[in-house]
Amino acid sequence: MKPFDYRRADDAAHAAALVADHPRAAFLGGGTNLVDHMKLGVAAPDLLVDITHLPMEGIEPLPGGGISIGANVRNSDAAAHPFIRRRYPVLSQALLSGASGQLRNAATTGGNLLQRTRCVYFQDTTTPCNKREPGSGCSALEGYQRYHAVFGASPDCVATHPSDMAVAMTALDADVVVQDAAAERRIPLSRLHRLPGEAPEHDTVLSHGDLITAVELPKMPMALHSRYRKIRDRSSFAFALVSAAVAAELADDGTVADVRIALGGVAHKPWRALLAEEALRGAAATEQNFAAAAEAELSEARPLPGNMFKVPLVRSAVTATLRDVCTGLRGRSDGHDPREGER
Ligand SMILES: Cc1cc2nc3c(=O)[nH]c(=O)nc-3n(C[C@H](O)[C@H](O)[C@H](O)COP(=O)(O)OP(=O)(O)OC[C@H]3O[C@@H](n4cnc5c(N)ncnc54)[C@H](O)[C@@H]3O)c2cc1C
Ligand code: SF4
Repeated sequence: MKPFDYRRADDAAHAAALVADHPRAAFLGGGTNLVDHMKLGVAAPDLLVDITHLPMEGIEPLPGGGISIGANVRNSDAAAHPFIRRRYPVLSQALLSGASGQLRNAATTGGNLLQRTRCVYFQDTTTPCNKREPGSGCSALEGYQRYHAVFGASPDCVATHPSDMAVAMTALDADVVVQDAAAERRIPLSRLHRLPGEAPEHDTVLSHGDLITAVELPKMPMALHSRYRKIRDRSSFAFALVSAAVAAELADDGTVADVRIALGGVAHKPWRALLAEEALRGAAATEQNFAAAAEAELSEARPLPGNMFKVPLVRSAVTATLRDVCTGLRGRSDGHDPREGER
C-alpha cells in the first residue's frame, strides 16, 4: 500500500474543503471498500480525511413524517432501527441482505452508496478497465459477464452498481444531502449514480470534495408493506445477481393505485423500473399483470452472452416480489389472495 496522510476534519464543510483542495484525497467512512481498494492498488489516495467522528450518525424524524439517516450511521444500526423496520421494511431487508454482520457493523450509509463496482477486472490492476484507467478498454466485453449489466450499459463499460441499500432507497424516492466546501444541496438518489456512457470512471454526479451528510426518506405510506428480494449465488455474503425492491398500494377495487419498483444487479446504477410501474398503475393486481409489468421493463434489456440468464431472473424477481407485497396488502384488507383463480 502506498504511504498517505491522514486528517480528521472539524466539521462537514471542513472535510469537504480538505478533500476538494487535494486532487488525490478521499473521505474515509467505514473503510470496508476504500481500504480494500488501497491494498489492491485500485485506489491510491495521498490523503485520507476521516469523517467518522463528525456528527452524522443520527436517525432523526423529519417534519413531514419521513426520516433522515446520517451518513455515518452503520448499516446494522439502520437495519435494526425500529422506525425503519416498521415504516420502510424494504430498506431494513436490503441492508440485512448485504455483506456480513461484521461488515455491516463497520459500513456507513455514505460509504455504502459510494462503494465501487465489484467487476473483477476493475479490481485486477493487471487487466484493462475503462473505469479504473480511462481509455484502456473493457475486459468484461469479451470476458466474465455473470455479474454485469442488462440495462443501460455502454460499449465502454458494462459494470453493475453493487449496493443493496441504494436499490431500496431508490424505490423509496430518497434524497441525498450533500455538503461541499461552501453549501449544502439535495440530490434525488435516482439521479446520484450515472450510467456509464463514455465516462465510466465517474460513478456518480458528485464532484471531488462533495461529502454526503445524510439520506432523507420521504413519508411513504405504501412502504409499510414493501419487500426486498435478492437472488444470489449463495444465501449469504454474496452480491446480487438480480434484486428487486417493491412498494405498492391497492385501491378498494383491487387495482394497483401506486407502485415503486427498483432493481439491483442489473445496471450501472440502482435501476428504477419506470416502465413496469407505468404498466401496473391502475391495473388489477394479478399474476398476469405482474408478469406483463416485468416484460414491459425487459423490453429495454440488452443482455450480454454471459448474462442472458438475468432476463428470466428479472421476470421472476419482479413478479414474485409484487406478488408478496400485493398478497400482504389484500390479505390485510379482505383476506383475498391475488393469486387465487390463477393457479
Ligand atoms: C466481502 C464483502 C461482501 C460485501 N457484500 C455486499 C453486499 O452483498 N451488498 C452490499 O450492498 N454491499 C456489500 N459489500 C460492500 C459493503 O457494503 C461496502 O464496502 C460498504 O457499504 C462501504 O461502506 P464504508 O463506510 O466502509 O465505505 P468506505 O470504504 O469508507 O468508502 C467507500 C467510498 O465512499 C467514499 N465515502 C465514504 N463516506 C462518504 C461520505 N459520507 N461522503 C462522500 N464520500 C464518502 C469513500 O471515500 C470511498 O470512495 C461487501 C463488502 C465486502 C468486503
Ligand atoms: S465492465 Fe466497466 S469496470 Fe468492468 S472491465 Fe469493463 S470498464 Fe472496467
